[in-house]
Amino acid sequence: MPDVRNCRKCGRIYNYIGGAPICPACKQLEEDDFQAVKRYLYENPGATLTQVSTDLEMSVEKIKRFLKEGRLEITDDEGNMVLECETCGRSIKTGRLCTECERSLASGFKSAASQIKSEIDSQAASNPKSLGIRYLNKGYEKKD
Ligand SMILES: [Zn+2]
Ligand SMILES: [Zn+2]
Repeated sequence: MPDVRNCRKCGRIYNYIGGAPICPACKQLEEDDFQAVKRYLYENPGATLTQVSTDLEMSVEKIKRFLKEGRLEITDDEGNMVLECETCGRSIKTGRLCTECERSLASGFKSAASQIKSEIDSQAASNPKSLGIRYLNKGYEKKD
């Protein structure tokens, strides 16, 4: 029996095949939007959320969703409150959990958290601070 569902976005009935509960048409629209953001960030590395939203006439919420899906990340190393870790509430760059919570979840060792934190701190110290977001796929950024 096919798994027939209502699309969460447009309400149309479709055959659910996995992934987000949206129909193929809406999925394609999402993908188009994501590609647009990806291209924009490729051409404008470090663009801010507001900038992307304004220039692409896309809602900030939608771009935030791409961030939550872990497809984009914020390049700011400190204090950007766009996303919060679902466990401890600390601001994160991408995904749903901060590195510490992700690590302690995976290993169960609390001591790993402080190690990760110092890694992040030293990374933050060595990187020039920049506000904005970038596309995660390294392959796309390769220069020829
Ligand atoms: Zn739909
Ligand atoms: Zn956390």
